[in-house]
Amino acid sequence: MACIVQKFGGTSVATLERIKHVAELIAEAHSTKQVAVVVSAMAGVTNKFVEYAQNLGSFEGDADYDSVVSSGELVTAGLLAITLKNMGLKSRSYAGWQVPIETSSNYGSAIIQFVDPTNLEKDIREGIIPVICGFQGISSENRITTLGRGGSDLTAVAVSDALKADLCEIYSDVDGVYTVDPNLYPQARRIDKIHYNEMKEMAALGAKVMQEQSVDYAMKKNVRVRVASSFVENEGTTISSDVTAKKFSGLAITQNLSQLKICHKAESHLPIIELLEQYFIRCEVLKVFNGKFSILIDRQKVPLMQSLLSKESHILNVKREMVRKNFSRISVIGSELTQGDCEKLISVLREAKIEVFYCSIRKNGINLIVLTDSLLRSIDVLHKNCGLGI
Ligand code: ADP
Ligand code: ASP
Ligand code: MG
Repeated sequence: MACIVQKFGGTSVATLERIKHVAELIAEAHSTKQVAVVVSAMAGVTNKFVEYAQNLGSFEGDADYDSVVSSGELVTAGLLAITLKNMGLKSRSYAGWQVPIETSSNYGSAIIQFVDPTNLEKDIREGIIPVICGFQGISSENRITTLGRGGSDLTAVAVSDALKADLCEIYSDVDGVYTVDPNLYPQARRIDKIHYNEMKEMAALGAKVMQEQSVDYAMKKNVRVRVASSFVENEGTTISSDVTAKKFSGLAITQNLSQLKICHKAESHLPIIELLEQYFIRCEVLKVFNGKFSILIDRQKVPLMQSLLSKESHILNVKREMVRKNFSRISVIGSELTQGDCEKLISVLREAKIEVFYCSIRKNGINLIVLTDSLLRSIDVLHKNCGLGI
């Protein structure tokens, strides 16, 4: 009998009604296949917990931060197992440590080291549907860990690998991976099949439909993934290595970026870079001169960064800092992209009177920074010029 892992994200389990609907999907799959289930917290719950912890000065890196932010998943796993039992099926919930899912001790962004399939396999053999908390693991220090935001996708892929499942199904509020976020750009096209590499690049650069680390794990362990909707029925998008790479495959968008310019008297930028790393603040470095450092970071991280800079001012010797808001990054994802491609994209945007403030290029992606005011127009111009609508 085929074995599948089904993962349901926050919007799919946002209410008891939605949980009942998800339970019906699971029951249907369970009638012909072996099934293990992974769940996220109900929509919005993890954000609330992050806010509570941060208000008390606890951030990623603190083990107690992970205890707080991981707790939403436990509620969903319990509620879904209860619902399945109410329908006459056999089920039980699992916290990450009960599986166990062993991880490194990087609280807030732990790395999965081992998933022991023994308990899950026993349940499945006995017709019990295991409902596993996504996002959670346990460190060798016997503490709860979390796998980074969006980490339930990683749990699902890792459990699929441990169970040698035939397919890992990721259910969310969109019916697959699109050429660009369909909630931003309704003319986006659903992609039937996408290569791990392209999906990984899209995820890394802002397409949160799959967590980046989960795509990497799937690629390394050769786990076949299908992204589909728990709201509408269709084939969704399959992620595998069995896809020919295209020149352009999609656009990934990151909004709410702020430019932080720091003028300092320190000899090197290293202390600033160390702070960014220590607090898991992702940034794009725009300019580095003697005594001047300019980065783009998530708007929400600006207050944290400013308080860190003033706390460490004796080392960093900051003279002045300036913040400019409202930048967005459009990453054009493709394969074998060149400087010539980058110049062409900038010139089509320029023809549409859109200014590109900064650009960078990597093999599978071109990053273009524009003002958020011109984001939607930029997406439209690039989507058409890269032939993504066809
Ligand atoms: P879940 O809570 O189920 O894990 P997420 O919110 O993490 O779901 O991911 C789904 C969201 O990803 C969609 O609502 C959509 O706005 C966003 N998204 C961003 N880029 C894309 C894309 N290229 N294709 C599909 N969805 C995308
Ligand atoms: N609940 C966690 C988050 O919001 C994990 C997930 O949804 O995948 O990041
Ligand atoms: Mg997600």
